[in-house]
Amino acid sequence: MNKSYILVVSGPSGAGKSTLLARLLKEYEDKLYFSISHTTRAKRDGEKDGVNYHFVSKEEFEKDIKDGLFLEWANVHNNYYGTSLKHTIKALENGKIVIFDIDVQGFSIVKDKLKELVSSVFITTNDNIQLKKRLIKRNTDTIEVLQTRLDNAKKEMQDIVKYDYLIINDDIEQSYFKLKSILEAELIKTKNYDLKEFQIKWNKGE
Ligand code: ADP
Ligand code: 5GP
Repeated sequence: MNKSYILVVSGPSGAGKSTLLARLLKEYEDKLYFSISHTTRAKRDGEKDGVNYHFVSKEEFEKDIKDGLFLEWANVHNNYYGTSLKHTIKALENGKIVIFDIDVQGFSIVKDKLKELVSSVFITTNDNIQLKKRLIKRNTDTIEVLQTRLDNAKKEMQDIVKYDYLIINDDIEQSYFKLKSILEAELIKTKNYDLKEFQIKWNKGE
């Protein structure tokens, strides 16, 4: 009875987006579809092609841009990242809630194109010191990449106002509860119901 919609999750690198989303996807497996982006960034230890990202070359990515295969794409931290248009349409047709973990530039494009279909959450840390600590602890980036990500975080923080919800990810359990609550609240928004179907059913007394 629910309609499909898109939930965009953005925030500085290292804020905890992937950690929180992994848990949400596990708990709401049947309802959610995680949009696996294409990227030109190098694969990290433990990441799998087709699971975390579709890892492609710069040439392939640029060809896909030319061929119009992306709903949105952006240069983030000196690499290309993009969302497949075809996969998004398919997931929406299948009645799924589509989750996008994309940056602030990608969010602006998706919001412009799909408007009412989009809800959004910005996830960040208490402060920049906490963010740096998490990025160091995660240990996936060189010093230079880490510095780029911290510099970009400052810019990304300027865009919070454009999002519907804000999660300051300090305590992981509390943050997860908040993310879950957002999803549950979105599910019962009137715009996210197929109201015609419900009203017909209601009148028939089924
Ligand atoms: P993002 O996807 O936003 O880049 P990650 O999910 O990779 O961030 O999280 C970055 C690091 O911070 C990981 O090592 C993760 O285990 C850790 N982390 C995430 N949330 C918290 C939290 N609430 N408290 C402490 N560490 C956290
Ligand atoms: P990471 O390299 O840490 O996996 O991701 C870096 C940043 O790229 C994160 O802010 C993430 O949200 C963003 N990102 C991931 N996929 C996409 C995408 O398809 N489009 C855009 N615009 N950003 C993305």
